[in-house]
Amino acid sequence: MKGGGRVDKIRKAFGERTYEKGLGYFKEGRVGDMVVDGNKVTGKVIGSTDKPYNVMLTWGKKVSSTCSCPVGEMCKHGAALALAFLSNDIERVDLEKMRREIDRLDDKEAKGLLAECMTKEPKLIRLLQAMDDGPRVERALSRLDRSFTNARCFGLVVSSYDEVDLAVKDARRWKGKGADKDRVELVLKISEELLDHIDDGWDEYDDEGIYEAAHSCTALLRDSLKTITEDDLLRLLERLIDLNEKDEYDIGTAEMLDIVAARIDPEVMMSVLDRFGSEPNLDS
Ligand SMILES: [Zn+2]
Repeated sequence: MKGGGRVDKIRKAFGERTYEKGLGYFKEGRVGDMVVDGNKVTGKVIGSTDKPYNVMLTWGKKVSSTCSCPVGEMCKHGAALALAFLSNDIERVDLEKMRREIDRLDDKEAKGLLAECMTKEPKLIRLLQAMDDGPRVERALSRLDRSFTNARCFGLVVSSYDEVDLAVKDARRWKGKGADKDRVELVLKISEELLDHIDDGWDEYDDEGIYEAAHSCTALLRDSLKTITEDDLLRLLERLIDLNEKDEYDIGTAEMLDIVAARIDPEVMMSVLDRFGSEPNLDS
C-alpha cells in the first residue's frame, strides 16, 4: 500500500493494537460496500459474526470512526475501513463522481436508470414511496416569497402584490390532495398579475423583480404537478396557451407550457394543438 504517512495517521488515530487488528481484517478482505462522499466514508466490515457491521469514517485533519459493533467508535472495524479507503485495490462508489455522471443524464435517461435500479434492487422502491414533496414545495414557496420582497425593494408597487403575498402564506398550509391544484392556481394568478402589470407599462426598474418572481412561479409549477389529473392538466395547458400569447416579454410562460406539455400524453397533446389550430375556423 502507498502513502506511508497516511497509514501512520491511521496507526496514530486508532492506536497500535486496534490498528494491527484492523490491518488483519483489511488483509482478509472483510471490508465491502464502501461509499466515499468527499471525506466521509461508509462501509461494511465483517466481524466475528455473519452479519457485517456498519462503519462510518471521517477522514479530515483528524481521523474518526463510528461503528455498529459493541465498541461503537475508533474500533478495529474503523481501522480496517480506513485502510481500505487508502488502498487503490478496493472497489468503492465515489458519490461525487457519481453525482457528476448523473448530472449529465437527461430526464428520460435518469428515470430509466432509476427504474432499472429498482428492478435490480426491489427494496429501493421504498425510497420512491417515501419521497415527500413537502420540502421541495416549501423551497419554491420561500423563493417566491423572497422574490416578491425583492420586487418591493426594486420599487415595484402593485397593490395586488399584497394579495399574492397573502396567497403565498396560505399556500404554506395547503396539504393533501388538493394542494397541487391550489398551487397551480396560485402560479396562474401571479403570472396573470405580472402580465397585467407589464401591460400597464414596462418600467426597466421592475425588470429584475418581475423576472425573479416569474422564475419562482415556474419552479413552483414544476413541483406542483404530481397529483394533477389529466383533465386538469389539459385545462392548465389551455390557460397557459392563452397567457403565453400575452407574454411579449417572455416572463416564462413558454417554459411553463413545456413543463405541462411534457406531462401530457403525446396523442392527447396533438389533439389539443389541433383544436387550438382550428379554433379560428370554428369561429367563422
Ligand atoms: Zn466496530
